[in-house]
Amino acid sequence: MQKFITDVHNHSTFSFDGVSPLEEMLKTAQQKGVAFYGVSEHFDFDEGKADGGTNAEEYFHAARHLQEDYAGVMNVLVGAEIGFSPESQFIERNRALIEKYNPDFVVNSVHARGGEDYFLQSPFYQTTCEGVQIMRPKKEAYKEYLSLVRKSLDAPYPFDIVGHVGYPARYAPYADKTISIAGFREEIDEILTAIIKKNKILEVNVSNRSSKTLAPCASEEMLRRYFELGGRLVSYASDAHTTETVCRRREEAVELLKAIGFTHITVPCRGEYVKVEL
Ligand SMILES: [Zn+2]
Ligand SMILES: [Zn+2]
Repeated sequence: MQKFITDVHNHSTFSFDGVSPLEEMLKTAQQKGVAFYGVSEHFDFDEGKADGGTNAEEYFHAARHLQEDYAGVMNVLVGAEIGFSPESQFIERNRALIEKYNPDFVVNSVHARGGEDYFLQSPFYQTTCEGVQIMRPKKEAYKEYLSLVRKSLDAPYPFDIVGHVGYPARYAPYADKTISIAGFREEIDEILTAIIKKNKILEVNVSNRSSKTLAPCASEEMLRRYFELGGRLVSYASDAHTTETVCRRREEAVELLKAIGFTHITVPCRGEYVKVEL
């Protein structure tokens, strides 16, 4: 039986940090035999960029044309990766963007706290103690991040995929960066249970460049716990910003999911969930 290849969550030069143009990303995906390819340019209105990191008008216009060009060849999904922030002004901008452009799917991601991305050297990991700058305790920083992820699940706009849960574990300046269940059981269980209850898709994002092994986000441990709690909706994301990384480590991710017990990948498309056998 033919297994369909999916890669839902990718960027191109329409995003501020994209490297390859969309035409090239799509050509590469087609060459790799992808059946469902999801484009999800960045809209992080909370990070200080006036357009959120993508010119929406240009992106949606061009992507819809390309989607038509690929009809019958490859299912191109024209989506968006929305940066969640609890402040009402950003919630409103996210909601307005979705309403105006009606993306085929939405990845809701927590990238930042108060406009500061969780990348390495982020002020998020620093605090001052008696006038001296020190590293923020991991427990405190991660708890805050996890509480934002939990809040993002209640976002009052439509979304399908919960993007890269555990994102700071890639960049944090701690010797042990992991966000383990042993350390954050309550917070992680609350997130996973809410994802299940709200019928959202937990993303398996494999774009961690700092690791030589698969190191998915959500982590293997979180995926196992999600399955144990009854969660069955997962997506695969290379989160490629360049043609070289389209579908990276997909086979490894599929093997891991099968080993855990998952049988399907879920592809969101205009409010419907398409089940693709692993
Ligand atoms: Zn992201
Ligand atoms: Zn992304």
